[in-house]
Amino acid sequence: MLKLENIKKDYKVADSVVHALKGINLEFRKNEFVAILGPSGCGKTTLLNIIGGLDHYTSGDLFINGRSTKEYKDRDWDVYRNHRIGFVFQSYNLIPHQTVLGNVELALTIAGIGKEERTRRAKEALDKVGLSDQYYKHPNQLSGGQCQRVAIARALVNEPEILLADEPTGALDTKTSVQIMNILKEIAKERLIIMVTHNPELAELYATRTIKLLDGNVVEDSDPYTQEEKEETKEEIVNEKAKMSLWTAFKLSFKNLMSKFKRTLMVCVAASIGIIGVSAVLAVSTGVKTFISDMQDDMLAGNPITISETSIDLNALMNTMSDSSKKEAIKKSIEDGYVNVNSLVEYLVEQGETMQDLQITNEIDEKYIAYIDSMPKEYYKAMKKDYGININNNLYTGMDLAGNDVQNISISAITQIYTSLLEETEFKAYSGMIANLGASLSQSLSNNDYILSQYDVVSDKETSRVASNYDEIMIVLSDDQELNDILLAQLGYYTQEEFLNLVYKAVDDEKYNASLDKEKFSFEELMSKEFIWYPNNTVYSTVPSNIPTQQIMPFTYNPIEGNDWNNGIKLKVTAILKPKEELNFSSLRAGFYYTPALTRKILEDSKTSDIVTFIKTRLETNPELGDSISSGFFNVKDKHDNIIYTGPVGITYQYSYQIDDTSEVKTKRGYVGTRNAMSDIINNYTEYEMPDVYTLSLRNIGGNDIPSSISIYPLDFERKYLVTDYLDKWNSDEIITLNNEPITKEERNEIKYTDAIALIIDLMNQMIDIITIALVAFTSLSLVVSTVMIGIIIYVSVIERIKEIGVIRSLGGRKKDVSHLFNAESIMIGATSGFIGIGVTYLLCLIVNIAVSSSGVVSRIAILPISYAIIIILISILLTTISGLVPARMAAKKDPVVALRSE
Ligand code: ADP
Ligand code: MG
Repeated sequence: MLKLENIKKDYKVADSVVHALKGINLEFRKNEFVAILGPSGCGKTTLLNIIGGLDHYTSGDLFINGRSTKEYKDRDWDVYRNHRIGFVFQSYNLIPHQTVLGNVELALTIAGIGKEERTRRAKEALDKVGLSDQYYKHPNQLSGGQCQRVAIARALVNEPEILLADEPTGALDTKTSVQIMNILKEIAKERLIIMVTHNPELAELYATRTIKLLDGNVVEDSDPYTQEEKEETKEEIVNEKAKMSLWTAFKLSFKNLMSKFKRTLMVCVAASIGIIGVSAVLAVSTGVKTFISDMQDDMLAGNPITISETSIDLNALMNTMSDSSKKEAIKKSIEDGYVNVNSLVEYLVEQGETMQDLQITNEIDEKYIAYIDSMPKEYYKAMKKDYGININNNLYTGMDLAGNDVQNISISAITQIYTSLLEETEFKAYSGMIANLGASLSQSLSNNDYILSQYDVVSDKETSRVASNYDEIMIVLSDDQELNDILLAQLGYYTQEEFLNLVYKAVDDEKYNASLDKEKFSFEELMSKEFIWYPNNTVYSTVPSNIPTQQIMPFTYNPIEGNDWNNGIKLKVTAILKPKEELNFSSLRAGFYYTPALTRKILEDSKTSDIVTFIKTRLETNPELGDSISSGFFNVKDKHDNIIYTGPVGITYQYSYQIDDTSEVKTKRGYVGTRNAMSDIINNYTEYEMPDVYTLSLRNIGGNDIPSSISIYPLDFERKYLVTDYLDKWNSDEIITLNNEPITKEERNEIKYTDAIALIIDLMNQMIDIITIALVAFTSLSLVVSTVMIGIIIYVSVIERIKEIGVIRSLGGRKKDVSHLFNAESIMIGATSGFIGIGVTYLLCLIVNIAVSSSGVVSRIAILPISYAIIIILISILLTTISGLVPARMAAKKDPVVALRSE
């Protein structure tokens, strides 16, 4: 069965060599009780370990069932130990954190046997050694004899053919020794027992054969295995593998960790601090970024990319701002008694030049418009083309003026009348604000879905629809569901009386009459009002040619609708919208909006209108006069009433008004067009007196179908870059082909666009990125610290469990099983600290978000996406595994013999 042939074992100690075994020749029967006797240090344990495959011989050969073990690999030895050998040690070598049952099961666990069978067999083995009532005790609750019985049960549970016992009674009193020997004798009936002892009496009494060792040599053998006996059949080595699943390693490690629960918990909590740091930083930066990107998409609605005929170059502005600060560095030296001259002139010239550079003048032409029109539609949500039309001159509505019935009057005339009214009262100072408060009606966007993504329809949902036809208009309210009074007054929603009352109220005048207050309008009231748009030919009539002034003032403006006016377009208010609450920015300000369809109709109609034709013809013959009308004569006088200059004035018209029913009707001359700011300045700051100058440009009357400005609302922040790339391409050297026709670089005017938010947002994102990187790097340091700490903890654990490593190896556990054991331990620590860290972070996020949301600005500022959480846990596991790898390898490499010898 077992044959040792000239087995030698040398140990190298420092420089010398210890010859522990010096050539042992022995053969064992399948079934006998062998006692090996000899003085301490003669090589008994070494011999036993070599027989058990725990230690390897230096030379010679060990035959198992006639097969040489010279070619044995680690795995073969493991299988051999697990299936054929049972070890019993003098010091029991039980694992303290496992129960009695668990200790016995270990051998089966390593063999990869299922839970149920394992328990059954372990209990059977324990019953055999008389421990049926001690299954669930721990080794430290047992007596020495009981411990040794557990060890025997553990050795036997795999039903090995060979039981090796190294001084099994060495630590026991005589009475207990006898009990143990009896058990062994019982066992020896079915198998080979090789027992080392230095008690000759016990050997005499129980063993069937005694072998005496001295100084590494056999000196006596009471019953050598003779040649004749060897007529037994030779067994084949069963090719089973000892295998402990990774799962088992986890369970074993879990038990070990639980046996020192407090320490494990402390390690995990300490390790989780790094995790908390990193994940908290990520959470806050994700939160801030999410907030910013929400805000960005939101901001896009309020800050489209715009291309205008004239604008300020924001990029250049930013640059000059930083440049000018550099120039300050040049300083003149100060001399006592002298005053240095500061060159203000030079500075002013410089400033003037840079300011000029800042002004962008774009020559937008048809080619560019075609280029813009062929931009991929998926880049943007909406595009708005502004043609500079002043619709107020052509738009008429019913107005209740003092002394008159309600009459249809143009919006610009209403504005003019209100301005005059205020000039008549003592509130002259406020008169200017009426006209200066901007357009009352403007063009809305092309995409109604985009509008509906930002606005709710608040008027009756069933009958309302977002204006899309040319004869539809809509009202956009402010966040607070308001419209301002001047806008409503301009559009004729107040009677003249009510309007004046508003003014009286504002300045606390005694004429204020509370009963005339009109502080709210019903949707019905707002929507039922009718507006009519009239074409240029109706609004601007040519002055009959027999009037001499006609040569310079060819048109008059008709502010009040006449009897024969029946070619207008009736515009109906079809919806009232209000911005959605969660939005900070939206694309339409409060006001009245007409559709791009109406714009197209106006452009189409205006093209052939008399006034447009007039300006265009004049432009061809007298280009120096420009594309606007400011014809008519006016005089500029000095202090002494001398006329010093005569110049042109805009298209005029007569209008009349009356403060109240009793006062006289006044008639005034009005001008159509935009008031020239220069005339204001001259009147206010010089000694000259000059009438107001108004200019009406071709654009104002719909005479130019090239937009003066284009606003593009990108789909989202990512797509914004596609839009700007597309716009940049126009200015690049790249060849652009439109409708299969290439447009060369020379044919293209350079067009600059304004992207106001890009500057701020890019800077903001960059800053957040830098801060995040810095913080993550900083907190990663604590991760490194905890990784090193876990490495040390695992290392300590290895030292603590050296005995266990030896036992596992002696039971046939592979090196891999041992390293699994410790890897499992580090994985569990890593996972636990990861989960603790993530859990705490989520808790922190919750608290921070509750605190932040009460401020009302943001709802959440700390967001840790699940994907990040998982990645962080994985990183934690990875780091601890790496840190545990070295100690685990160390443990696996431990020589089982050395491990078992350690105390
Ligand atoms: P016994 O069990 O008979 O008391 P051992 O087999 O333990 O003796 O030891 C035999 C000899 O080998 C002793 O001299 C011992 O010092 C030496 N020895 C045993 N193990 C080692 C080892 N790992 N390294 C060096 N010397 C060893
Ligand atoms: Mg010994």
